[in-house]
Amino acid sequence: MNNAYFDYAEPKNEVVLSYAPGSAERKALQAAIAELKGQVRDVPMYIDGKEVRNGNKKEMRPPHETAHLLGYYHESEEQHVHDAIDAALRARDKWAAMSWEHRASIFMKAAELLATKYRFRMNAATMLGQSKNAYQAEIDSACELIDFLRFNVHYLSQIYKQQPVSPVGMDNRLEYRALEGFVLAVTPFNFTAIGGNLPTSAAMCGNVVVWKPANTQIYSASVFMEILIEAGLPDGVINLIYPSGPVVGDICFAHPQFAGVHFTGSTGVFQHMWKTIGSNIARYKSYPRIVGETGGKDFVFVHPSSNVDAVVAALARGAFEYQGQKCSAASRAYLPANLAAEIKSKLVAELATMKMGPVDDFTNFINAVIDEKAFNSITRYIDGVKNSNGAASILCGGKYDKSKGWFIEPTVIEANDPAYVTMCEEIFGPVLTIYTYETDKWIQTLDVLDNTSPYALTGAIFAQDRHAIEYMTKALVNSAGNFYINDKPTGAVVGQQPFGGARASGTNDKAGSALNLYRWLSARTIKETYVSPTDYRYPFHQPDVK
Ligand code: NAD
Repeated sequence: MNNAYFDYAEPKNEVVLSYAPGSAERKALQAAIAELKGQVRDVPMYIDGKEVRNGNKKEMRPPHETAHLLGYYHESEEQHVHDAIDAALRARDKWAAMSWEHRASIFMKAAELLATKYRFRMNAATMLGQSKNAYQAEIDSACELIDFLRFNVHYLSQIYKQQPVSPVGMDNRLEYRALEGFVLAVTPFNFTAIGGNLPTSAAMCGNVVVWKPANTQIYSASVFMEILIEAGLPDGVINLIYPSGPVVGDICFAHPQFAGVHFTGSTGVFQHMWKTIGSNIARYKSYPRIVGETGGKDFVFVHPSSNVDAVVAALARGAFEYQGQKCSAASRAYLPANLAAEIKSKLVAELATMKMGPVDDFTNFINAVIDEKAFNSITRYIDGVKNSNGAASILCGGKYDKSKGWFIEPTVIEANDPAYVTMCEEIFGPVLTIYTYETDKWIQTLDVLDNTSPYALTGAIFAQDRHAIEYMTKALVNSAGNFYINDKPTGAVVGQQPFGGARASGTNDKAGSALNLYRWLSARTIKETYVSPTDYRYPFHQPDVK
């Protein structure tokens, strides 16, 4: 029983370490990489707090060094999904009833462990398993995940504080209950931080979770699970399993206690989930919460008044960091004819300086794409340019090589048609398509941009003319959930730019903000009357006094 209200002050963002030559962190990270590469890890599922191995082993290899074996994970079967749901439901009542300060301490401790003891191991696992360079791993698997944990504790303590008014004679209260049942978290390969945030944001609110990461992120996901266990997460609160997507979906979405899905991944998978949930709707005890952040076709629109060097830097970083495998990555750019030649020649020169290779060589800016399926899908778009009958051409890059890993050069496609396929579809790789418009047609081109793709995740505008900035900001109001002015469309920071898009890009529930946490809470309103009325009659229906 506690008799105090516990508040958690707004944290500061975790400081990004530089990994510059000679720094202590660079040495520590290199040592962690060497240690992990020296092991063949045997990664179990975690069900009810226990390590589960079924011998159905699947290999894990670095995308940039496919000859090396990092280890194995144990692929889950249907029974493991049932076991994970059962374990979660057994843990539910005790977890939902735990006092807020004790629940909060677990996640604050996990953040601290990640910031200190586990930082380099976690970054090394993300670098090796997902082919991120040191900086991309640091901003994701260390800083962003630490920020998600600390900021969500702060936001939730603010939500719990929000209470209705109570006139004299009564007390009105809002209780923020956990959902009845279990939450399914299905997470993508490209951010270790998203993998960690989707299950923990729901769990922090008192929910129990079945967590299914992408197969290509299991290596780093399992490190985070070790951290949660060391932080004291009770058995069964988060159960980490590795079934195929359809298997987890079929079982979880048919369960009467299915209370919600927290998803990040592609639009097609999310739409399939929504359809299945809709057709099963009569089976559930409550209406499930459906939260999904999905694909994008993120734009950079360059106004004729733009600063060329700023545009070039934004395109180089925004389109090609982490090989363009960010949902927010710039993948189509609209250039005005008055600046196009200069932007293109400077961009081509910059891309020529980007070194590509494995992550253990810190001088490499570009590493490999995640797996063979992604490699094939991305290179199909590149090859398609060659058969486009002049609708598009390769401005630079375009080569690829899978002999050692899944390497694709940073590639810029020039489209003559703003509706060319690579201007419309999500490619999810190091491919940027540019389209040059007539300088005086910038207003009409905004319409083209707005109507070209079904997505609305991120977008950036560049201009020096303030009237143009104001005009574009209004004209593109529905084109992006995260909108950038004179900056690249990537790199959202928790607490600073809450992240999420609309249209086909998701439910826009803004991960890393209070808006997201509300989805994992079910409020109960309590009215208590101190002195109850004892007569049903009101004055108005008494007879007039003669
Ligand atoms: P994906 O859709 O292939 O996989 C995401 C997750 O869904 C994985 O765990 C996968 O195993 C699972 N899955 C696949 N089919 C399933 C099914 N039928 N039922 C249930 N689960 C299923 O996506 P990915 O390749 O891991 O990630 C890339 C995609 O994620 C891109 O489209 C990208 O734009 C998107 N993304 C969006 C955001 C965002 O915030 N909007 C962030 C990161 C990634």
